[in-house]
Amino acid sequence: MTQTYADFHRRSLTERDSFWAEQAKRIDWQTPPQQVCDASRPPFARWFVGGTTNLCHNAVDRHAATRPEDQALIWVSTEVGQEKIYSFAQLQAEVEAMAAILLAQGVGQGDRVLIYMPMVPEAAFAMLACARIGAIHSVVFGGFASVSLASRIDDAAPKLIVSTDAGSRAGKRIAYKPLLDEAIALSAHKPTGVLMVDRGLVPFERVVGRDLDYATLRRQHDSARVPCAWLESNTPSYTLYTSGTTGTPKGVQRDVGGYAVALATSMDWIFGGKAGETYFSTSDIGWVVGHSYIVYGPLIAGMATLMFEGTPVQPDAAVLWSLVEKYRVTVMFSAPTAVRVLKKHDAALLKRHDLSSLRALFLAGEPLDEPTGRWIAEGLGVPIIDNYWQTETGWPLLTVAHHIAGVEAVPTRFGSPGVPMYGYDVKLLDETSGVELSEPNQKGVLVIEHPLPPGALQTVWGDDARFVNTYWKSVPGRNVYSTFDWGLRDAQGYTFILGRTDDVINVAGHRLGTREIEECISGHPAVAEVAVVGVADQLKGQVALAFAVPRETPASPEAALALEGQIMKRVDEQLGAVARPSRVLFVGILPKTRSGKLLRRALQAVAEGRDPGDLTTLDDPGALLQVKTLLHK
Ligand code: AMP
Repeated sequence: MTQTYADFHRRSLTERDSFWAEQAKRIDWQTPPQQVCDASRPPFARWFVGGTTNLCHNAVDRHAATRPEDQALIWVSTEVGQEKIYSFAQLQAEVEAMAAILLAQGVGQGDRVLIYMPMVPEAAFAMLACARIGAIHSVVFGGFASVSLASRIDDAAPKLIVSTDAGSRAGKRIAYKPLLDEAIALSAHKPTGVLMVDRGLVPFERVVGRDLDYATLRRQHDSARVPCAWLESNTPSYTLYTSGTTGTPKGVQRDVGGYAVALATSMDWIFGGKAGETYFSTSDIGWVVGHSYIVYGPLIAGMATLMFEGTPVQPDAAVLWSLVEKYRVTVMFSAPTAVRVLKKHDAALLKRHDLSSLRALFLAGEPLDEPTGRWIAEGLGVPIIDNYWQTETGWPLLTVAHHIAGVEAVPTRFGSPGVPMYGYDVKLLDETSGVELSEPNQKGVLVIEHPLPPGALQTVWGDDARFVNTYWKSVPGRNVYSTFDWGLRDAQGYTFILGRTDDVINVAGHRLGTREIEECISGHPAVAEVAVVGVADQLKGQVALAFAVPRETPASPEAALALEGQIMKRVDEQLGAVARPSRVLFVGILPKTRSGKLLRRALQAVAEGRDPGDLTTLDDPGALLQVKTLLHK
């Protein structure tokens, strides 16, 4: 008998414990949990209390034991022209060797290991090795530069850093080591060791007594056996930094057992992935999608995961599809920006390869506009599944789950990621009154009731107060988790995402805090003040645009251009090219309220050619006029 998805979803909330107890059986436990959910100390939630398990065991060892020769990790780099395939047995051997290296360097349970790596297998080995011994990994996206990296080093206080000589993007080598050395020089915390994976791409200097050579140590620990540490379900497994409204990034902290169960369940019900098949996510290990759906999720499900170092257009715009064909990919995950990049190329490229293995393409990270969605759906001839989530949630919060036995599938609808997933008690609230919006088509803040489901963040690393105050106290009178996204629900129950309620912007699916960029730019000696806003961009969804008040007006257009170049270089060097504004415009004054609050939203509206709305609080109307004139020049 089939039940409606709405009934099924309701049961996941009303019969929460029996629902998740059933899902917990998807993973191996050394000791079974004694309590499914301890929600007695809101807003904190503890899942599968008393149970002991291990993420690496569930992702690697249990498959290596039964299907040692099956493919586990397929690494393809079109940047360096290499491909490598690791079976589950080989992956386990690599992870054990890496774990032995970590242990030999004194890394123990609860110690942090910061991983600053491009898309290479050793990055996944390092993550899994940490999970194996109970060390907490903190992967920092390779696109971040020294200042961003330094603040993460200080927050995570890692004992060891795992890094490499260089990454490569579109054929250009990007040296990592100088950025890392600079970051360590800037940070107050100093790691005791830096484990260097030398790819032979860019020569680098070694710091004697600190830098370690991975290849040498790998040989020493070649056939090391390192058992999995059985960890209580609520032991932290990793932290992953994400941007918020302040300049300091937040370390999203996750557990072990809840995360493993949530991923195992989503791999089946949301993605429909099966052991023995191949999963391909084009994301990067530096982002949450990379954690959940390049490394842990597919492997926990016993699938091979395809890790790709390259761009979607090199050697040509059919490269992703050639990989789908070659490795018989069944489930694929990407971002709308990647599709918009492909859309600039011949649609015939979508048909050049045999895509008969592919069942669906999942897209997330930013709004999926309808034309992009339709273009790729028609080109590939497979369902396109939009899914909405955040670094904090760890797995999709809104989408359409198609693979739940006995439950009606919810049809996809372009423009909306879908409906709340099981386990998430999602509501739309009025921003000022906190009242729930029960009528359709009303715009409100998208929130989640306590307790968050398994897999979601436990807290902000080292700062419970920040977790409580940032996420749970933003809607007046309601102790609910705010997503900081505006949403709207239509009469059929589909939720539409209408943008952020805070100053976070989304560039090509990457979340950036405008404050971090502002802090970097205002550090330039020629800049008195700056405002950074996200403006709509056809390709990247949004791009950062900076409005700077110079200390002295540049003497000529050439001087202004030179200053703009210097500012962009500063952002590149300190934060990384991802954060670089598309333009820096020089203004005499920034739009502010009489109490001195920067009107970023009005600036953004003007920059996008929209009505800036109520400007009664604006101190000097000339400020916006100036911006308008500049933009239309
Ligand atoms: P991140 O934590 O970097 O993954 O960014 C999460 C944010 O990206 C969300 O809060 C949304 O603003 C946006 N986002 C992610 N997925 C979607 C989606 N499918 N549709 C619309 N916005 C999305």
